[in-house]
Amino acid sequence: MSTAGSLYVIGLGPGDPLMLTEQAKIALRQSQVVIGYQGYFTGVQDLVQDKECIALPLTQETQRAQVAADRALQGDAVCVISSGDAGIYGMASLVLEVLEQRTACASALPCPDVVVVPGISAVNACASLLGAPIAHDFAVISLSDLLTPWELIEKRIQAAAEADFITVLLNPKSMRRHWQYSRAQDIFAQHRAPETPVGLVRNAYRSDQSVTTTTVAQMTEPPVDMLTTVIIGNSQTRYWQSRMVTPRGYPIAETP
Ligand code: SAH
Repeated sequence: MSTAGSLYVIGLGPGDPLMLTEQAKIALRQSQVVIGYQGYFTGVQDLVQDKECIALPLTQETQRAQVAADRALQGDAVCVISSGDAGIYGMASLVLEVLEQRTACASALPCPDVVVVPGISAVNACASLLGAPIAHDFAVISLSDLLTPWELIEKRIQAAAEADFITVLLNPKSMRRHWQYSRAQDIFAQHRAPETPVGLVRNAYRSDQSVTTTTVAQMTEPPVDMLTTVIIGNSQTRYWQSRMVTPRGYPIAETP
C-alpha cells in the first residue's frame, strides 16, 4: 500500500533572503522535490542544492500545482515555492484545488499532509517601506484581468474607493495592459481628495528597489509596471517626513 507524502506550499518573501522565514527554511530542508518558477530558485540556491528541482515557466502555474500534487500523492516530500506569501495571489489555493480534484477522482488515495507556510507579502513589505499606510482597514486589488473579468475588478475598485478603504493595487500594469491603472485613478479621484497620499514601491527588498511618494492627482505620472505595488491612502492618511501615516485614531496628548 502506498503512503501519502507531504506537501508544503511556502512563500519566499519579496526577494531578500533575510525575509525568508525560519519555517519556510525548515520546509525546504525537509523536502525532496522543490517546484517553482525558475526565477524563484536563485534566492534559495544553497537550501535546494541536494533536492530535485523542477522549474516551470510563468503561465504554467496549473502544471506546477499538478506536478506537486502528483508527486506528493506518490509519497514524496514536496515543496512548492511562491513569491511573497503563497496564499496572496500565489500558488496555495491552486495546489489545494488540484489536490481536491485528484483525491475526488481517486478517493482511495491517501491524501498528503499539506502545510501552507506564510511569507512576507509585497503588501506588507511595501507598506513598511512607505511608513505605516495600512494601519487601518484596507483592500487589496489586483488589476490583472487575465483570470478575472475587468467589470468585476472595476466594481471592487469602486467599492473600496467609496468605502474609504486604504487600497493596495497589485499588478497595476503589464506590457499589454495600460489603461486599467488610469481608470483606477479616475475612480479614486471621484472619492478622495486630490492630495491624498499614494506610495509606489518597485522591486521591494531587491537590489533595484525604488520608493516613490505622490498623490491621487499625480499617481499616473511616475512609471508603474508589474513589479510595482501601489498604496492609496484613505481620507485620513497624511505624509510625515515623506512617510505615509494612516492614523489608527488614538488621541495623542500634547507634550507637557
Ligand atoms: N504572492 C505575492 C503577490 C503576487 S501578485 C505576494 O504576496 O507578494 C504579483 C504582484 O505583487 C506584482 O505585480 C506587484 O504588484 C507585487 N509585487 C510582488 N513582489 C514585489 C516586490 N518585490 N516589490 C513590489 N511589488 C511586488
